[in-house]
Amino acid sequence: MGNVNRAAKRNSVTREEDRILPVLEHIWKLLREEDPLPLGPELKGIPLLEDIHHEILALRRRAENLQNEIDLRNSTVIALQEREYRFRHLATHDSLTGAMNRASFLERANRELRSAFSTGSACGVVMMDIDHFKHFNDTWGHLAGDDALRFVVNVVSSILRKNDFMGRYGGEEFVFFFGGADQKTSIAIAERIRETLASKPISLENGSVFITASFGVAVASFDEYPGDEYIDRLINSADMAMYQAKKAGRNRVVCFTES
Ligand code: GH3
Ligand code: MG
Ligand code: MG
Repeated sequence: MGNVNRAAKRNSVTREEDRILPVLEHIWKLLREEDPLPLGPELKGIPLLEDIHHEILALRRRAENLQNEIDLRNSTVIALQEREYRFRHLATHDSLTGAMNRASFLERANRELRSAFSTGSACGVVMMDIDHFKHFNDTWGHLAGDDALRFVVNVVSSILRKNDFMGRYGGEEFVFFFGGADQKTSIAIAERIRETLASKPISLENGSVFITASFGVAVASFDEYPGDEYIDRLINSADMAMYQAKKAGRNRVVCFTES
């Protein structure tokens, strides 16, 4: 008798599993599959299943909408970041040559001077002015002059070391900051820039032409931090040395001395 009962119970458990398994399988697919199956006729009429089916579909739709909203917000954030980067770049760089503009050069130079003071490292400031650039424009045209300015920035950027940077100070005047460079090194880097510029012809529509530039070097020297106006004094000294280079015949490097 006991055996018959156990067999009957097993049979009823098996029947129960047979009914429940397709339901669970359907719910599993509703939750996991990309395209959930519709509720087949064999599953209709099972209490609550229809409600669960629709509830899961509604949750899926909400999750999908939320995901779309997140994607949209993410792409808006990326677009805003790109735009902010472009505006920041426009505000801090010269639009013709891509070099830093004067204000951002001064800001960075001040930062570097402050840090040079705290670490006790040397640094040099150099003014560079292209020689006879008015004549270049008059001969080759203003657009060729613009090309020449871009050429100069490209050539010079490829020479600068990791801790150096340059800015466009005015029309055809550029200013450099050489980090960790004492007088000897500053003069050597300026010489290298001068030689490279003088040896590379600029290709123009109707020929190629060489340009040269004159350089003035000033080296930072302070026992205590002289304040943010110190960069102006250094640039002024470099400028005076640059005019000496012009007076001495151009295409040369002159270092500022107190005398
Ligand atoms: P020096 O050797 O004494 O420096 O002579 P210079 O002719 O270079 O100096 P000057 O100051 O007389 O002339 C500078 C010229 O630079 C005049 C100006 O038209 C030109 N210039 C300044 N900015 C730009 C620019 O953005 N594009 C072009 N094409 N020319 C420019
Ligand atoms: Mg000039
Ligand atoms: Mg000039």
